[in-house]
Amino acid sequence: MSAEQTSSFDVPADLPTLLVKIFGKDRPGITAGLFDTLAAFSVDVVDIEQVVTRGRMVLCALVTEPDRGLEGELRSTVHSWAESMKMQAEIISGLGDNRPRGLGRSLVTVLGHPLTAEATAAVAARITRAGGNIDRIFRLAKYPVTAVEFAVSGVETEPLRTALVTEAAALGVDVAVVAAGLHRRAQRLVVMDVDSTLIQDEVIELFAAHAGCADKVAEVTASAMRGELDFEQSLHARVALLAGLDASVVDKVRNEVRLTPGARTLIRTLKRLGYQVGVVSGGFTQVTDDLRDRLGLDFAQANTLEIVDGKLTGKVTGEIVDRAGKARLLRRFAAEAGVPLAQTVAIGDGANDLDMLNAAGLGVAFNAKPVVREAAHTAVNVPFLDTVLYLLGVTREEVEAADTHDEE
Ligand SMILES: [Mg+2]
Repeated sequence: MSAEQTSSFDVPADLPTLLVKIFGKDRPGITAGLFDTLAAFSVDVVDIEQVVTRGRMVLCALVTEPDRGLEGELRSTVHSWAESMKMQAEIISGLGDNRPRGLGRSLVTVLGHPLTAEATAAVAARITRAGGNIDRIFRLAKYPVTAVEFAVSGVETEPLRTALVTEAAALGVDVAVVAAGLHRRAQRLVVMDVDSTLIQDEVIELFAAHAGCADKVAEVTASAMRGELDFEQSLHARVALLAGLDASVVDKVRNEVRLTPGARTLIRTLKRLGYQVGVVSGGFTQVTDDLRDRLGLDFAQANTLEIVDGKLTGKVTGEIVDRAGKARLLRRFAAEAGVPLAQTVAIGDGANDLDMLNAAGLGVAFNAKPVVREAAHTAVNVPFLDTVLYLLGVTREEVEAADTHDEE
């Protein structure tokens, strides 16, 4: 029970309490042994925290003071028990429970590859300078990146994010800042871009290579990037270059597509956690439908290459999926999934994804260009898609435990 809540469980601020800290080599029976020792003095437990790092344990117990006159005996009994276990003990007298956590709670996830002491110091200093207090630190993963989560209070999420995101880019770490609370556990729909996000390729380039027009397609892409063409114009211009290509190329392209490392782990884990997962692409349904079937996705939408008499016509049919279209589809998928937009997560790398990233509850720029990175809520700049799980608070241990469970 947190101390700022007023309830009959609250420990009065002036109630004498003892903080008992045990430190030493971790082995079975330490926790049972300590509380067994304390039980002889009929104290109540106010709080317990235990951390084990590389085989060394820190166990902290906050307990009520024993009846008058027994504190000295409790101290000597705990110390001799600790000595018999080759542990160090420290007992500090004080009043009440832990200091209540400040208002404004956020979770700051830091991903490093590696995570340097310098980056950790800078992130922690920035949190302090922004007025935040680090209440807890917890390792989420050591593979494929080192990921740690800081629980911070005392500062609103938005200014904390602004303060940290600028710092992160300079330090070569990825930092995600989300508001703490139950809604984080309620995120239930993840929508991903495909080209250079779910897969390592740009599908139009794979088709262009078969059509022998890779250079021309690259020219149009460059022109679109310079802002001379909008997405829809560049889509039509590039697809037109594929006119006459045999439809059998579709199968070849499907086989050439390379999933981003961690993509399968991400999707498998999200599905196990009960998430719905979808993709939206400015590429083509001929590829995204296949990915949907192979990966067990709930939603997939893209542009469709028109095929007549076994040949690509150089046109697309149906609804155009562009920048606005991707955001529209995120909303549609959310409505179909019955998930409020605030509880959605969108992942993408391109300018095309920005509306979708901003519309989602959490927008993740994945190895994105600077313009996208700066505009998104958070950025991941390591080439492993499963690191997104850590931003959602899922630990590597949970991912692996679920995998083992499935194999059994
Ligand atoms: Mg992309």
